[in-house]
Amino acid sequence: MFQLENLLRENIKKLVPYSSARDDFKGEANVFLDANENSLGSPLTKWYNRYPDPLQWKVKEALSKIKGVAPQNIFIGNGSDECIDILYRAFCDPRKDNVIINPPTYGMYEVSAHINDVEVRRASLTKDFQLNLENIEGLIDEHTKIIWICSPNNPTANSMNRADIEIVLNNFDGLVVVDEAYINFSRQRSLIQELSEYPNLVVLQTLSKAWGMAGLRLGMAFASVDIIEIYNKVKPPYNISQATQELVLRALEETGQVNEMIKALVSMRADLEKNLQSLSIVEEVYPSDANFLLVKVSDANKIYNYLLNAGIVVRNRSKVELCEGCLRITVGTEKENKELITTLRKF
Ligand SMILES: *Cc1c(COP(=O)(O)O)cnc(C)c1O
Repeated sequence: MFQLENLLRENIKKLVPYSSARDDFKGEANVFLDANENSLGSPLTKWYNRYPDPLQWKVKEALSKIKGVAPQNIFIGNGSDECIDILYRAFCDPRKDNVIINPPTYGMYEVSAHINDVEVRRASLTKDFQLNLENIEGLIDEHTKIIWICSPNNPTANSMNRADIEIVLNNFDGLVVVDEAYINFSRQRSLIQELSEYPNLVVLQTLSKAWGMAGLRLGMAFASVDIIEIYNKVKPPYNISQATQELVLRALEETGQVNEMIKALVSMRADLEKNLQSLSIVEEVYPSDANFLLVKVSDANKIYNYLLNAGIVVRNRSKVELCEGCLRITVGTEKENKELITTLRKF
């Protein structure tokens, strides 16, 4: 049976969280002498001398309307990276607990584990880039706290079969984190509507990809109220700056524009796929549910360097297991995609 309390580290169970000045004070006031801010102002806009809302309620309310998830079920991190790291710090005892990843996949699950001195167990994807349920099951023991699933997966670009994800959710008593960084480009439905069904589910999303705001650093975790409370207890008090909160609030009003960009990128992805397939150096373009393509080419290292020389940088994934000979190519603008294809044609 899944019991959050049993998964938590002892130090986190006992933790008395930092109480900021703005946490302590509730009510109406117009003189704020509680937080040692600079009362005279700042060189910038008047607001920036004040600490931001530690729980980002306005942003969460706006996200709630877009995502159909209550604000209390949302955690906002300084990028998905922070949403990932906090789970290790809250749930994984260094040198005792372990997590399972499904490589090839996003690198941060492993880097963050190493930083936190937590063992990583690997259940490689099958040849068709799907979860290997048998291998996952074989790796689980009483110290397994988290299974990381990336869907659509980076760098393979495909979505995991939903039925497989559900099998993991139904049979594993630890946390199942589904990273949906690319969900807006996918044919698959998000899992965020299933939070009430699965108390062990954490869904990660980000504003870095479809929303086009990688520079602002805003990642989201959607989960049960109990899990979100742990996130809030462990996070740095003011992890999202006032500037980010204000800019994101403005951007979240532009769902129409973002949906247009998503539509355009998905259609450009199809064109790019077709054009790549017409090149003799391209052996395979894997199906993509993301804003990039995994492309098997005749000589990945040579082509990678050739493109670099031409001023075009792609990601060389040829040393990654199951991605031998592959480049990962982000969908660019029409002009950039055309330049890529003409350059490759001359190789
Ligand atoms: C790009 C990406 C992210 C986004 O990370 P941020 O820290 O939010 O920018 C998360 N997960 C995966 C799999 C990604 O590829």
